[in-house]
Amino acid sequence: MQATRTVHIALPMIGEEERRAVLEPLESGWLTQGPKVAEFERMFAARHRVAHALATTSCTTATHLALVAAGVGPGDEVIVPAFTWVSTANVVVHCGATPVFCDVSTRDFNIDPTQIADKLSDRTKAIIPVHLFGMPADMDGVRAAVPDDVIVIEDAACAAGAAYRGTPAGALGDMAAFSFHPRKSVTTGEGGMLTTDNATFAETADRLRNHGASISEEQRHHGARPYILPDFDLCGYNYRMTDLQGAVGVEQLKKLDGFIAERDRRAAWFAEQLADIAWLRTPRVPEWASHAWQSYVTYVDPELAPFARNEIMDRLKNLGVATRPGTHAVHMLGYYRERYGIEADAFPGARDSDRNSMAIPLHNRMDDDDYDYVVEALHSIGR
Ligand SMILES: *Cc1c(COP(=O)(O)O)cnc(C)c1O
Repeated sequence: MQATRTVHIALPMIGEEERRAVLEPLESGWLTQGPKVAEFERMFAARHRVAHALATTSCTTATHLALVAAGVGPGDEVIVPAFTWVSTANVVVHCGATPVFCDVSTRDFNIDPTQIADKLSDRTKAIIPVHLFGMPADMDGVRAAVPDDVIVIEDAACAAGAAYRGTPAGALGDMAAFSFHPRKSVTTGEGGMLTTDNATFAETADRLRNHGASISEEQRHHGARPYILPDFDLCGYNYRMTDLQGAVGVEQLKKLDGFIAERDRRAAWFAEQLADIAWLRTPRVPEWASHAWQSYVTYVDPELAPFARNEIMDRLKNLGVATRPGTHAVHMLGYYRERYGIEADAFPGARDSDRNSMAIPLHNRMDDDDYDYVVEALHSIGR
């Protein structure tokens, strides 16, 4: 097969609406968290059926806020899947707490609820199930596996618009964190969102993202008494989203359901077209899941594949088809290896997912010819 085109792994969908939307804060002069962020938060909360949505600088900072609001600190343990983006574990370390890894299933790359019980201790304060690549984690399984006082924080970085048994991601745990990095389906450049139905968590997180201030800049700006400064009885952070990003987020969110519907249709088509490749396992979507398809991650069966996964990725790259490993096994990354001394084999599901997962292009800037080309390129590797 000759390389005749280039298919990117992901491309953001920025249109005229987003370009126009950023002009409003630029012209009004209200640049940091203000009316556009508030509008984005209201829309996001409504779409994900939660009482509170708080915009942040990233999913990483939203998850950090959630842990701090939950009271996670030194001496506490937080259960995290061993196969996820590194930030899921990093934020636990930032709280002075200990990440306790739990293995994942290579079938859907999500936390395996049957393995959670072994990870519990009397220091377990929280668990962070991840809806990896937009596929909801088995949340009933997660809930059933932990005592009632363990706080469940969804890492919903990839899961805007996903649902589990009809309930949207973001409304499945005590708190949740979303990402608007350009690799996700909807983007604000960088950005995140913390969602919760719990008013106390929401109020604490709201203050923590703004240095711990008791009133926001916007409230102060509109207040009648200019001498009033906020009080600070929490030691907070600056995790505020800008109104430029909020304005983009509002327009992106209007398009989310359309993006997912198209991705869902393309994913079903891939499953059909790639079914005859014995060495390539396509994602399975159980009937209880609405997958948000942040990315389409396959599994290269090392027993059946004609080459090792990396060789297949190189060959696809030479054909112009971009691929990526799904994500990494965090316990195998330098910092975690050194600090906690965990063997790669301690989490075989995560280890194998790290070695054999392969995201192939599926996003809203691909046309029919791009999809045909990806299928043809994969077939050219061998069946
Ligand atoms: C992208 C991602 C993050 C990090 O999101 P940022 O907004 O870049 O901080 C965290 N967890 C998972 C599972 C992700 O895919």
